[in-house]
Amino acid sequence: MTPALGYAATGPKAALSPFKFERRAPRDTDIVIDIQYCGVCHSDIHQARDEWGGSMFPMVPGHEIVGTVKAVGKSVKGFKVGDLAGVGCLVDSCRTCGSCKEGLEQFCESGFVGTYNSYERDGKTVTYGGYSDHVVVDQAFVLKVPSNLNLAAVAPLLCAGITTYSPMRHWKVSKGQRVGVVGLGGLGHMGVKFAHAFGAQTVVFTTSLKKKEDAMRLGADEVVVSKDPQAMAAQRGRFDFILNTVSAPHDINAYLQLLKRDGTMVVVGIPEKAPELEASTLIMGRKRLAGSLIGGLPETQEMLDFCGKHNIVSDIELIPIQKINEAYERMIKGDVKYRFVIDTKSLRV
Ligand SMILES: [Zn+2]
Ligand SMILES: [Zn+2]
Repeated sequence: MTPALGYAATGPKAALSPFKFERRAPRDTDIVIDIQYCGVCHSDIHQARDEWGGSMFPMVPGHEIVGTVKAVGKSVKGFKVGDLAGVGCLVDSCRTCGSCKEGLEQFCESGFVGTYNSYERDGKTVTYGGYSDHVVVDQAFVLKVPSNLNLAAVAPLLCAGITTYSPMRHWKVSKGQRVGVVGLGGLGHMGVKFAHAFGAQTVVFTTSLKKKEDAMRLGADEVVVSKDPQAMAAQRGRFDFILNTVSAPHDINAYLQLLKRDGTMVVVGIPEKAPELEASTLIMGRKRLAGSLIGGLPETQEMLDFCGKHNIVSDIELIPIQKINEAYERMIKGDVKYRFVIDTKSLRV
């Protein structure tokens, strides 16, 4: 075991505070990563406050991890000391089921091992995430990070990036298509960047015009205020694909109506209350409503390589870890453009 330092929530109502714990001694296939940056995902708040139930405390959140390789086990291939490395939402899975064999570890039939608030495959060791100084992860779950990008701004690609990239790839968003992105937050802003990079005509749906300038800067061709019934009516039947990132309660039928025949809307946010679905909006025009969950290891690597090639990163606000509780409060108010990233140097001062 090696000593580690992080920030943890000790209970659902507790502010995050410094926490000393231990990481496993590296195995032959393990990579030890000195964490430089960790993104702050909305699901960190949900879990740290036990809003989804079953949270384990103390909890060190964080699953948007980037850093440098500090040590490698003797069977590690493809990584050496000093290399950049990334870790996303998963740190292990059964590796033998159909989904794992297809590189879709996020759908592992025995359940994947989450980067934090999860049990290792032994069923008893709790995982601790990236709000910490280092992490020990099996090489099969470590990603290569392109060296030409701003490393801090790469961190959110590991969750927000792959969550939006994967459905667009799966449903083959491409040049000439008209693509909608609903919501312009941590997920939505990445959705806009990817849709634009794939050559789609990109339309952002937002509740107020305040975000228009920003949306255009991120790559949108058009911005529609979703509260304006006339503006919404003008978009009916025009979309090949809609990425819906909103987790607040909203009328999903209003968006399904905007799809063309055979169009697809993918949801990646989970509203607390199940939305009501009008079957007729799907039936008329053979439309599809689908979901998507992060991405497997091969696709996450593909996404990082794509970002390296096309110079795509997240728009971030860098914070010292001492500001994490304040950052949570601001995220709840939607007051961040568009992702907080922790500079873990602040742990060592
Ligand atoms: Zn996340
Ligand atoms: Zn599996």
